[in-house]
Amino acid sequence: MSRTETAARVPTLATVLDVIRERVTVSRVELAEATGLTAATITHAIRELIDVGFVHEVGTAASSGGTPRRLLELEPTACYTVGIQLDRFTATGVVVDLAGHIVARSSMAGAQEGEPAEVLRFVADHVNDLLATAAVPKSKVLGVGLATYGPQDRTAGVLLTAQPTASWLEYPLTETLSEALGVPVLIENDATAAAIGEEGLGGARSSFATVYMAGGIGAGVVLGGQPYRGATSNGVELGHISIDAFGPACSCGNRGCVENIAGPTAVVLKANTIPGLADRLRLRGDTVADFERIARAATSGDPDALSILEESAAVLGTATVSLVNLFDVARVVIAGAAFATAGPLYRDAAQAAVDRAAFMRFAHPVVVELSDHVSDAAAIGGAVAVLRRSFEARTARSGAPAGR
Ligand SMILES: [Zn+2]
Repeated sequence: MSRTETAARVPTLATVLDVIRERVTVSRVELAEATGLTAATITHAIRELIDVGFVHEVGTAASSGGTPRRLLELEPTACYTVGIQLDRFTATGVVVDLAGHIVARSSMAGAQEGEPAEVLRFVADHVNDLLATAAVPKSKVLGVGLATYGPQDRTAGVLLTAQPTASWLEYPLTETLSEALGVPVLIENDATAAAIGEEGLGGARSSFATVYMAGGIGAGVVLGGQPYRGATSNGVELGHISIDAFGPACSCGNRGCVENIAGPTAVVLKANTIPGLADRLRLRGDTVADFERIARAATSGDPDALSILEESAAVLGTATVSLVNLFDVARVVIAGAAFATAGPLYRDAAQAAVDRAAFMRFAHPVVVELSDHVSDAAAIGGAVAVLRRSFEARTARSGAPAGR
């Protein structure tokens, strides 16, 4: 897909801002060339971005036509967005400035079996602490992106699942958190958010897939710079793809789901069935911490821990081949808190699997790589999603043309 075709579907201000962020300093002419937008559209967009203080002029550069080109640059501290990744077992938060720099980050406990009101109060306190740490006033915060599991109704800001407790089903997550914080809140599928985070801060990765593993397993796909949404943004559920029609029953209704066979919970359960291993690794019944202990033991050569993880990585590798076969992407990025230590092992297994079996490997190579922000990718994506939505709204209000 060409840059022009992509640009025609992306709101103008976000597109322009993305290019300025990538190039650091850029002229209007270069922006028009890079986005495929007309000079008039660029002029209109830049005037608006300068008016709100997001962009400023930083001098001139010589041009072949004789007239010097005025150069533009972002004002990174003009506004900030917050991203929170939350699932049953893991949670992280980041504050990101307009230039995409992470100005504060921290990990916290997952939702566990908590009730939504209590967990959201905890999340709100955490966001306030993060902002205080970064010395960012609430008035400069465009909003919070809550990257969490599905199925979810993004428009209503609710989960369509009774996990981890019955009261989470259709609980007004975004409304409650927004009231507590006094800023807009959106929800996003965590694996899709991880892909959005890679796309937003990772440079030119216009078509790729993300394999995500934190408390569970998911995937996100970006095609031509846009996240693949399906009908309701509940697609690419890699964790609930069956690889064994006669395998163990899953809570989703399917059998032999990837997550049930290879996810962190399954890995920890397996470790507990091997005599002496739980004691040797000091497993304590906390899924994420126990998974991390198994990963550390595997990387330092414990043969039992290594064998369990290699089995999980082989299953995830097979699932990655299916993902690549469905979307014909040339790049797969591995992200999520569960890959903090075990990432290289999973990456190598997935790379071996796609080298061996991806259907299009004779047409093009498929590269599997570990995210630069392996534990924070989904939280970063939540923050980037807020920025994009805010610019979609701004573009709509300003009446700027959305394409050429
Ligand atoms: Zn399932």
